[in-house]
Amino acid sequence: MSIEGIAEHLAAVRVRIDAAVARRGDGPPVRLVGVSKRQPLPALDAAAAAGLRDFGENYAQELRDKQQARPDADWRWHFIGALQRNKIRYVVGCALIHTVDRAELLAPLQRRAETTDHVQDVLVQVNVASEEGKAGVAPAELPALLDGFASLSHLRCRGLMLIPPQAEPEQTRPWFAALRRLAEQHAQTPRPHVELRELSMGMSADYEVAIEEGATLVRVGTAVFGPRSA
Ligand SMILES: *Cc1c(COP(=O)(O)O)cnc(C)c1O
Repeated sequence: MSIEGIAEHLAAVRVRIDAAVARRGDGPPVRLVGVSKRQPLPALDAAAAAGLRDFGENYAQELRDKQQARPDADWRWHFIGALQRNKIRYVVGCALIHTVDRAELLAPLQRRAETTDHVQDVLVQVNVASEEGKAGVAPAELPALLDGFASLSHLRCRGLMLIPPQAEPEQTRPWFAALRRLAEQHAQTPRPHVELRELSMGMSADYEVAIEEGATLVRVGTAVFGPRSA
């Protein structure tokens, strides 16, 4: 896909999002996060010119470099990649970190956020299908992880995030529904600094299904930007 095609593809994705929202009926608004990992900056510029404001990046250094290359842009950066302790300094300061998946990350995130005087919004990534070797907290360990936010002055948990098992779009539906139910269930227990409103789920292949099941943030890469560079 050429950079010239981005505006058109973005418009097409928006139409599909609106249609999925209409099928779902009542519910929260849906925000499109354009996943721009391994896409060149002119591609992001083209998407921004067509109205995109939320950009998702997987690699901490690439995120930092792109932010520094566009210091004046009013874009919201999302970190959606595997979060490593030694990369925390690159990602604190972005609009939303989607991938907090273990308790050990909370203290270093809090320290960095406090040092930089930034209250950091995050999502907790859940391994809903309990897949071996997959990132995400096990559903049974979610309450303890959420309890951990209580003592953290500079972190706010805004919701949950899911990368479902690889499958055809319709087959991912039960996992999306399971994440929504998990959020609804745990929202019953009030916890300081935790508010389970956002559900980050759905990618190019299955964002419409995710929206029908309650996604509030969809992470769409190739359907907007085309294939990524190697
Ligand atoms: C790459 C990636 C996406 C976007 O994938 P596409 O299939 O290109 O839409 C979404 N979420 C995460 C976590 C990713 O790593």
